[in-house]
Amino acid sequence: MLETTPPETTRFAPSPTGLLHLGHAHSALFAARAAGPTGPGGGRFLLRIEDIDRARCRPLFEAAILEDLAWLGLRWEQPVRRQSDHLDDYAAALARLEGAGLLYPCFCTRREIAEEIARSARAPHGPEGPLYPGTCRRLDPAERAARRAAGEGFALRLDVEAAVRRTGPLTWHDAAKGEIRAAPESLGDVVLARRDIGTSYHLAVTVDDALQGVTLVTRGEDLFHATHVHRLLQALLDLPVPRWHHHGLLADETGRRLAKRHDALAVAALREAGKTPQEVRAMAGFG
Ligand code: GLU
Repeated sequence: MLETTPPETTRFAPSPTGLLHLGHAHSALFAARAAGPTGPGGGRFLLRIEDIDRARCRPLFEAAILEDLAWLGLRWEQPVRRQSDHLDDYAAALARLEGAGLLYPCFCTRREIAEEIARSARAPHGPEGPLYPGTCRRLDPAERAARRAAGEGFALRLDVEAAVRRTGPLTWHDAAKGEIRAAPESLGDVVLARRDIGTSYHLAVTVDDALQGVTLVTRGEDLFHATHVHRLLQALLDLPVPRWHHHGLLADETGRRLAKRHDALAVAALREAGKTPQEVRAMAGFG
């Protein structure tokens, strides 16, 4: 029997903080293939520019990413969604969570958090390192109000225990690993609005995937744990639940994960060195 997969809506969502390298090319090609044949009644392959961190993103890199993807032979639907154009969408989701009493202001600096963790012998750890110790969750309401009124800067954190109490147990589906029990508490009280940009990766990505009708979220397995938080946010915000496929990461010859420091493996560098799109696709695991 012929095996058929339903058409999917997938997306590639790079942050324009550097040139596209082979690891990104792998992710983009993976998402495009997972959409299946595109066209009327078929799959949809979307591109999203994740540029909420204005200090790290550059229009120059955005242009270079689009050029490299097109050179690789990828075609995506228009218009491209650029997150910095949609801050209102994230603010609306944040207001809803705040209205439900699930957020609290966090005045801690990175340094204060590190010091607090170092002081505490029993600092909880998650898959990505020590968790936020909850200092500002325990602030006295009067102090909280006074610091806000004094204009002290703050981030907004999710009170994950309160959120999980509200939603009850959740699961999600990963194409590689199967049914997964959501464990958002393993990441602690994540930041949903950074003090400098008013939103965060977790919030923006969850809102966008819903607004863009993404049915299958594909991305590297380095973001596997983030999905626990996204699944929780979907439940809190009544958003549709896609499926996920976290793929393995490309490594260099020494087994180290490819990163932006591997400049020689930037798609643009390979192109300038005379490689063809087909050769670069093969290097990215899509020969
Ligand atoms: N923008 C993220 C990155 O470049 C990917 C986001 C996602 O696929 O969820 O790592």
